Amino acid sequence: MESRETTEDMQITDFENEGNVPGVNLPIALHQYQCTECAYVYDEMHGDPSAQIVAGTVWDDVPADWVCPVCDAPKNKFDFLE
Ligand SMILES: [Zn+2]
Repeated sequence: MESRETTEDMQITDFENEGNVPGVNLPIALHQYQCTECAYVYDEMHGDPSAQIVAGTVWDDVPADWVCPVCDAPKNKFDFLE
């Protein structure tokens, strides 16, 4: 009479990988960039809804062909705003 008891708990703790945080909640510092042509400020926290740039989009992720929504200045006309 055999009675095999498998009492091994194969518990895997996934708690180390908390990589399922939505992008919006990333605890990163957001910056602002100002258009040198018209003084429009691109705020990474707000993005540019008129150009379908979602809120929280960092400057590096803004498409290279994005232009100032006010004066159509190219991205390279913007200066980092401290
Ligand atoms: Zn501008």
